[in-house]
Amino acid sequence: MVSVIIPAYNESGNIRILCEGLNEILSKTHYSFEIIFVDDGSSDDTIVELVNLHERFDNVHYLRFSRNFGHQAAIKAGIDYARGNAIISMDADLQHPPHLITSMLEKWAEGYDVVYTQRINDDDISKFKRFSSSLFYTLLRKMSDVPIEEGTADFRLIDAKVASVIRQTKDPFLFLRGLIPWLGFKQYKLSYQAEKRFSGVTKYSLSKMLAFAINGITGFSIKPLRFAIFLGILISLLAFVYALYAVLIYLFNDHVISGWASVMVSILFIGGIQLVILGI
Ligand code: UDP
Ligand code: MG
Repeated sequence: MVSVIIPAYNESGNIRILCEGLNEILSKTHYSFEIIFVDDGSSDDTIVELVNLHERFDNVHYLRFSRNFGHQAAIKAGIDYARGNAIISMDADLQHPPHLITSMLEKWAEGYDVVYTQRINDDDISKFKRFSSSLFYTLLRKMSDVPIEEGTADFRLIDAKVASVIRQTKDPFLFLRGLIPWLGFKQYKLSYQAEKRFSGVTKYSLSKMLAFAINGITGFSIKPLRFAIFLGILISLLAFVYALYAVLIYLFNDHVISGWASVMVSILFIGGIQLVILGI
C-alpha cells in the first residue's frame, strides 16, 4: 500500500481538488493507497472539507491537531499513522504536482528507499521567497555537516523502513530536510517545475520561516559552537597580550589612569573564558 500525507493549515480551497487529482492518478497505478490529511489547527473550513472527503472516499483519512503545531510536526504525525510500504508527503496547495507521484513510485519499485524532489525553474515564486530560500540554503550548507540541497522541499517518497526510523524521533524541532539526507539509504532525486499556489496565501510567515531556518542550522551543525570555542580562545589570548602591555605601561609610564588596565583585562579574559565554556 502507498500512503500520501498532506499537512493542511487553512487550505479549505485546495484540498478537495488535490484529493480528486490524487485519487485519479493513484487509481491508475496497481497499488492500493490511502490519503491522510493532517489538519494543523486550521481556523477555516478545512475540517468540514476533510469530513466530507472522508465520507466520500473510503481511503481518505484525517488527523486533526488541537492547535497549530507547524508543518514538520504535521508530516511527522502523518508518518506515525501511515500504514503504507511507501509514504509520500506533499503540500496541500497544489504546488507539488501530483503527476510526479507516478515517477516516484517507479523509482521506489526500482529499489530506491528515498525519492526526493528538487524544484527547478521557479518563475512563479516571489522574489523574496527565492532570495530568502537561497540565502537559507547557502548558510545551511556552510554551517551544517549534512549535504542539504537547495529547492528540496518536503515533497518526497520514503520507504517503510525509513519511516520506521523517523517514527523513533521525538524531536519537537524536527527538520526533515536535514534528517532524511543524514539517515543515508538509497536516495534518488527527481526534478520538477513548481506550480502556483492554487488557492489562498502562503502559510509560512516570516517568523515561521525564521524558526524553521534556526531549527535547520542548530539541529544539523556544531559549527557555531566550534566557532564560539575558537573565538573564546582568541579573545583570551588577546586579553593575555593586553595584560602584558598594561603591566609594562604601568611600570614605565606615570600617566596611567588607575584601575583601567585591570578592568579591561578582566572583562576581556572573562568574556573569552565564557565563550570557551559555552562552546564546550
Ligand atoms: N502548513 C502547515 N502548518 C503550518 C504552515 C504550513 O501544515 O503552520 C502546510 C500548508 O498547509 C501547506 C504546506 O505546509 O500544505 C506548505 O505551506 P505553504 O504552501 O504555505 O508554504 P510555501 O509553499 O509558501 O513555502
Ligand atoms: Mg506552498
